[in-house]
Amino acid sequence: MLKELELLIRLQTLDELIKAKEKDQKEIPQNLEEIKKKVAMTEKELEEIQKKLKELELTRRKKEKYLDELAEKITDKKAKLFNVKTNEEYAALLREIEKMKEETSQTEDEIIILLDEIEVTHKLIEEKEKKVKEIEELLRKKEKEFEEIVDKIAQEIESFKNEREEIRQQLGDDTRKLYEKIKGTRGNAVVRASNKTCMGCFMEIPPQTFLEVKKGDKLIQCPFCGRILFFWEEKKEDEEG
Ligand SMILES: [Zn+2]
Repeated sequence: MLKELELLIRLQTLDELIKAKEKDQKEIPQNLEEIKKKVAMTEKELEEIQKKLKELELTRRKKEKYLDELAEKITDKKAKLFNVKTNEEYAALLREIEKMKEETSQTEDEIIILLDEIEVTHKLIEEKEKKVKEIEELLRKKEKEFEEIVDKIAQEIESFKNEREEIRQQLGDDTRKLYEKIKGTRGNAVVRASNKTCMGCFMEIPPQTFLEVKKGDKLIQCPFCGRILFFWEEKKEDEEG
């Protein structure tokens, strides 16, 4: 194969590799960003549950205080029972005491429900704290991993770019310009010709042109899309092993 054509194929491979590596380079920070978002989200969930726990504890304290107040009042009223003068007054006091006892019992029930809720909330907090820790650990691990990958990718890109520069120097000005021009309009400049077909535009190449491509002693462009063609015998899958 023509040396220039070989160089062009390698140049295109390098261009593609550099493009892919630069894409990787961009995606890595995005991946980290997603994990960071997850940490923030879980921390926020944790805060919400902690807030809820505080509210539950506050309600519980209020209810317990109310119980104390009721108990005091009941004691007061009971003391008054000894000093009442009339049956009506006695009966009224008893009714009041009875009502307060009912309220006491109801408040005690409410506190039991609250205690259950508080216990469940404590468990939820434990779970969320564990989750936050896990994601933070994952984040640290990924940060370290990514740091290494970023370094590696940067080195690879540098080496590809160096090689690309060397190839560019070896290519003639005209060929280099032609390559850049086709790449600019078509996305890729060098394509395989297979079964008399340009693998860039999938048009059938005239037999004479195909023969010239097959010979490979000069640069041949596809008459339809202008891409530079090279011939490469396609191996069957079972031969590749
Ligand atoms: Zn073509």
